Amino acid sequence: MGLLNRTVIARTRGAVPREAAIAADLLRPAGLLPPAQVGAFAVTAWRHDGAHLLWVLEHAGAKVHALAGPRSDSDGAWLRTATWNISYRDGAFSPELGDVLSALGAALQQASDALQVDAAAATLRWFTRPDKDDVLEVSPGKKLYVRVTDHCDEKCLFCNATEGNANIVPSKTALRSLVARIPAGKLSQVIFSGGEPTLVKALPEMVGLAYAAGARQIIVQTNGVALAQPGALEAYLPYKDRLGIGFSLHATDALLSAQLLDHPDLLRHDAKLTAIDRAVALGFLVKITCVVMRPNLAQVPAFARWAWERWGTGLARLQFSYAMPRGNAWLNKHLVLRFSECVGPFGEAFAFGREVGLRIETSQSCCVPPCVMPDDVGHYDIYGDFAGTVSDPERCKPSEVCGGCNWDRICAGVWKRYIDVNGTSELRAVTDRPEPPVAIDDFVQPEVLDLTDC
Ligand code: SF4
Repeated sequence: MGLLNRTVIARTRGAVPREAAIAADLLRPAGLLPPAQVGAFAVTAWRHDGAHLLWVLEHAGAKVHALAGPRSDSDGAWLRTATWNISYRDGAFSPELGDVLSALGAALQQASDALQVDAAAATLRWFTRPDKDDVLEVSPGKKLYVRVTDHCDEKCLFCNATEGNANIVPSKTALRSLVARIPAGKLSQVIFSGGEPTLVKALPEMVGLAYAAGARQIIVQTNGVALAQPGALEAYLPYKDRLGIGFSLHATDALLSAQLLDHPDLLRHDAKLTAIDRAVALGFLVKITCVVMRPNLAQVPAFARWAWERWGTGLARLQFSYAMPRGNAWLNKHLVLRFSECVGPFGEAFAFGREVGLRIETSQSCCVPPCVMPDDVGHYDIYGDFAGTVSDPERCKPSEVCGGCNWDRICAGVWKRYIDVNGTSELRAVTDRPEPPVAIDDFVQPEVLDLTDC
């Protein structure tokens, strides 16, 4: 079962394997978890650097790093125990440090003896990267995307699933096993996506598993067509209190919609509207996402008014997303917008939302960078901390423009491809406004969830 795409596999290469298990099974019994005191040194931090356990030790204002790895006679070590190589770096040697390294080695050996772990077992248990089938990518904001299929019955001009998608689960059996192991309570959202997830017949059952596992919020992202079938939405009613349905809908009329979906069947549009009507009537939390490219840009303000007239307060959110230059959108470059072109239509829609009390927003990641629309930052769906870096290796924050920007933490960065084509002239560091209020609880970098460590 291959769950991860190339980007995520690259990212996991340096990931800490089974950190929670190491702390609980080995370091706590050994008395080596911060803020431990070992001899004259305070243990102030620890981490796994991929090949070693590494502690930061402090004594009389000086810092030194102690390292432990599975015993190997070919690697250099200051001390060898039956199971461990112990060494140090980044600090001056002293008799006190020698005492600490000896004590650390003895404590580790005692704890690993209690577990009956020798060097080979330690390597396997604590120093081998999780198999790629045992890890999932968790997106910023503690969101877990579970892609239950990469098949889709549409071919949207902007689809980015065609260029790298993480967490693809190819079978019902695999999905059952996966969902059963997800520590759903630790996540803010479990998002069933694809491809088109409603093509998987077992989807309601899978949603039920995530619900039973305690997911705080579950989202089904769908084009909605299958949910227009009689009884289709009713299958999700038992989970309604924690389930949201995110419909993708990109135009108010069938013709423009079909153009964006690259699909000749005009009746699909009616089916989508029927599904949204019924979801609203059944009281589901309903969000609509409209991805914006050149053909539907001018319609954005009218779309907002039309959606309000049709669904009113039955609509929890309406999101206008910028079509990022990936996948199909990048193959249709002539339809990809410049950031500055979005400012007017998006701003008009946001103003309408404020006027009538409908939450109209743009996503944090599929967005025009916030510095391009600084007056509308209140309409960004902000959920992640990208400070000093970017979560997506295909984006960047050019230091000559972004240096000193107060909004670094709420900005996902700019696609390098966009800058290659359009440059950076639309960007400017925000220095005259503070960072907007954000829910700090869910501020996380993208991370790798090791299912064997849960
Ligand atoms: S200046 Fe850079 S960091 Fe600041 S909002 Fe714009 S793109 Fe993001």
